[in-house]
Amino acid sequence: MKVDYLIVGQGLAGSAMALSLRDLGASVMVIDREKPNSASRVAAGLVTTLAGKGMNPSWRQEEYLPEAMEYYRKLEKLSGRKLFHDMELLKLFHDEKQRAKFERKKGDVSAWHSEAKAEDLSEWESPQGGFIMEQGGWLDTNTYLEIVQEILGDSYARREFDADLLELESDGVRYEEISAKAVILCLGVDGLIGSNSRFHFLDHRSAKGEMLLVKIKGKARDKIISKNGWLVPVEDDLYKVGATYEWHDMQGSTTSPGRAEVEAKLITMLGNDDFEVVDHIAGVRPIVRKSQPMVGAHPIYPQVKLFNGLGSRGVITAPSVAKHFAEHLVDRSAIDPNLDVSSLRIIGPDAR
Ligand SMILES: Cc1cc2nc3c(=O)[nH]c(=O)nc-3n(C[C@H](O)[C@H](O)[C@H](O)COP(=O)(O)OP(=O)(O)OC[C@H]3O[C@@H](n4cnc5c(N)ncnc54)[C@H](O)[C@@H]3O)c2cc1C
Repeated sequence: MKVDYLIVGQGLAGSAMALSLRDLGASVMVIDREKPNSASRVAAGLVTTLAGKGMNPSWRQEEYLPEAMEYYRKLEKLSGRKLFHDMELLKLFHDEKQRAKFERKKGDVSAWHSEAKAEDLSEWESPQGGFIMEQGGWLDTNTYLEIVQEILGDSYARREFDADLLELESDGVRYEEISAKAVILCLGVDGLIGSNSRFHFLDHRSAKGEMLLVKIKGKARDKIISKNGWLVPVEDDLYKVGATYEWHDMQGSTTSPGRAEVEAKLITMLGNDDFEVVDHIAGVRPIVRKSQPMVGAHPIYPQVKLFNGLGSRGVITAPSVAKHFAEHLVDRSAIDPNLDVSSLRIIGPDAR
């Protein structure tokens, strides 16, 4: 089989990469082993427009968010299935310091928030008040991955990739029966560590996240709640709640301390422990440098490319970055230096 690009990994990175290349007329073959706890399969899929403790718009949000929305809406139209759930987010200040911080900065980020109503605040534990975050919601990442597989049809296969079987040729790569101009590794954390990574020399600080699926009865379901964690209404009485950050376990295992930490976050939002835990999951966010995504070629083997580093903002950033990288590959446009893997610090003496 001969294709323009072999893409390994079909998470948020590989999916957007495959569709962007096809949009530009390139042929692809995508393979993925369907790791059950890949970041994209466990992600809450949130778009929070004033993120984290600092309540800041994410990197390039003004540019990337509208492009991402257009991308997901197009797929919704094509598939007839709901992918992105628009939903206001009720941000509850977790202490007086955070409230004061927001008061100081709110004029600078006015496009992304509005005032919270008293009846919304009174549903939750909110002694310091809060605000409404606009233009957010959540992507149903599992449905998204399914739709991309359906679009790809025979150009997708569930299959394990073993980097030792990859043959580098003068004009491309060969992987068993597949020959291509280049392989694009979209492996998430497995592309930064372990035997299949050809980019293990990159300085990464990937972070495991644990989260719970819980049943809560009789609560409002029209908003995502954020305090020192987040709570997303999924269906009926079910909510996703998370998440922890942990920098040592790169397998993404669930732990008792992780569960206890997420339960504690939920109690600070509810003001009680009136919930039932239905499931407990974990995955690893692939994080490189300043949590910015990166694309580009291996420093020694140019036919080996990567798209990685989506961090905790893959939903917003993946579509734009994939489009940019696809344009570079097909039209030979320059890679934005802020996204180019070759601009990163290489650790270790040898990239081989
Ligand atoms: C708990 C948690 C919550 C999160 N919440 C959010 C959120 O609310 N909003 C947001 O924007 N982001 C969130 N993220 C981050 C988001 O999930 C990531 O940015 C994104 O999913 C990374 O996508 P990826 O394609 O790079 O990696 P992955 O999703 O990990 O995909 C890599 C793929 O490579 C495949 N693969 C690996 N090795 C092999 C191999 N040898 N052979 C074949 N296939 C292989 C895997 O099966 C997998 O499908 C969250 C992450 C976690 C862990």
